[in-house]
Amino acid sequence: MLGLMMDTPLLLKHIARHAERNHATREVVSVTADHPRHRYTFADSLARARRVSNLLDRLGATADARIATLAWNDFRHLELYYGVSCSGRILHTINPRLFAEQLVYIINHADDEWIFFDVAFAPLLAAVAAQCPRVKGYVAMTGAAHMPDVELPNLQCYETLLAGESDDCEWPDFDERTASSLCYTSGTTGHPKGVLYSHRNTVLHTYAMTMPDAASLSALDAVLPIVPMFHVNAWGYPYAAMMVGAKLVFPGPSLSQPETLVDLITEEGVTIAGGVPTVWLPVLDYLRRSGRNLKPLNRTVIGGSACPLSMIEEFRDSYDVTVLHGWGMTEMSPVGTVNRPNARTAGLEGEALRAHVVKQGRPLPGVELRIVDEDGVEQPWDGASFGALQVRGPWICSDYYELDEPSAAHVDGWFDTGDVAMIDADGYVKITDRTKDVIKSGGEWISSIDLENVAMSHPAVREAAVVGMPHPKWQERPLLVVVTDTPGDALAAELLEGFEGQVAKWWIPNDVVFVDELPHTATGKVSKLNLRKRFEDYRFPDA
Ligand code: ADP
Repeated sequence: MLGLMMDTPLLLKHIARHAERNHATREVVSVTADHPRHRYTFADSLARARRVSNLLDRLGATADARIATLAWNDFRHLELYYGVSCSGRILHTINPRLFAEQLVYIINHADDEWIFFDVAFAPLLAAVAAQCPRVKGYVAMTGAAHMPDVELPNLQCYETLLAGESDDCEWPDFDERTASSLCYTSGTTGHPKGVLYSHRNTVLHTYAMTMPDAASLSALDAVLPIVPMFHVNAWGYPYAAMMVGAKLVFPGPSLSQPETLVDLITEEGVTIAGGVPTVWLPVLDYLRRSGRNLKPLNRTVIGGSACPLSMIEEFRDSYDVTVLHGWGMTEMSPVGTVNRPNARTAGLEGEALRAHVVKQGRPLPGVELRIVDEDGVEQPWDGASFGALQVRGPWICSDYYELDEPSAAHVDGWFDTGDVAMIDADGYVKITDRTKDVIKSGGEWISSIDLENVAMSHPAVREAAVVGMPHPKWQERPLLVVVTDTPGDALAAELLEGFEGQVAKWWIPNDVVFVDELPHTATGKVSKLNLRKRFEDYRFPDA
């Protein structure tokens, strides 16, 4: 027997309509290349999103057109988030830091009809446009005065186009499983793979994100998504903030300028931010040097790679900011777990607390987890057994977009995340490593994340990474790679000593090397693949 409740589809337009009715005057503030601090209201934003939908009709975009963006976080990108998806079309957010070949591959693979772009990316597009013959035109997201001087087929001006459209647009009803957006994973090996989100999954993920044990978003918050809008829908903030009526503050192209970020936080009343650990390193450094603080920021979601213990403690002890350590991935929309206390862990102190806060947290309701060994046998949640971390649920991808063959990551209805993890009795996940980054020494596994946490707690270390390098006796041994202002034997010895008592003796890295900077991926994570390549000729002193 079916229930007798209204069968309203879960569509993004309902988030938009709710925001228009209930939070119309809430502000969206953006730094853009053509405005130092642009501001308008949710009502203004969504009126322009409706213009975007009308514009797409007029441009002749097909009913399920992929409309690409190559843009930073700002108000125009937000208008496209709603204007494209609510019209039933699919917003394909492209990471502008990808290599040219990858850009060409994903534009053609997604069959993008139109590309909306920030002026700064005009040369990038001009260089690849000839290899993307099916793109019907390019729209520069700026006003007529700032149009780029480049050769692009059918180049149009966003503001001029929008000025010619009306706000009057009744967004259609359709099946909630209709695709809403598309994001390619960076693909460290092979081609990038497309993850195709639906309205239903995005709305459910948005509800979950706003829960108290997730980001706990409310109408009193002001959100600063530093995580780019081309990286898994900026972790869902553009939807969640609109849903609850939280002010949105966008850093535009300034997402790696610590001073601008701190200005935005303090001047715009930002209460919650979100970004990968690497964006916070220069911010914390700037705060130490300038003596400024982060008021009124009270929490920040950090994920995408393991948040170092030293960062969690510095935020807490120096700035009264709680780090909400989260874990997820493009294939998971992206949030899977968030580290929030429960009745037992809330009372932890000292070493127990330190060991706890580095964990990636408990699954959001809607995300089911399990760890399995090499034979696929499920492992207990005892905080000691580890295995491949697998997930399932309504906002986890069931397959990749138009792949030639079904993905190997999907087994018996579960998605294999490619991460190795432990889960404790309270359901807190601790990621050991990515499967491909795990260090295998004498048949046993060593967690590079744990070693990095210890190294990063030394005040002279700016950034650190541990990679497994070949060793004739042990198969692999950990090599610690460090960025510091004071390289040398003294620091190396101090760092190695620092591991004593913190990790098992046989985990301690065999050597320390100093570098000017670590290689990062297009999403700002340390690229262990490149690091291992860079040190392929390295030999351990005892090898
Ligand atoms: P890519 O890095 O390929 O662009 P994602 O952004 O989807 O793709 O990255 C997902 C991966 O990032 C996870 O599988 C995991 O390895 C890593 N990751 C994300 N959050 C954390 C975290 N808090 N701690 C450790 N690893 C994390």
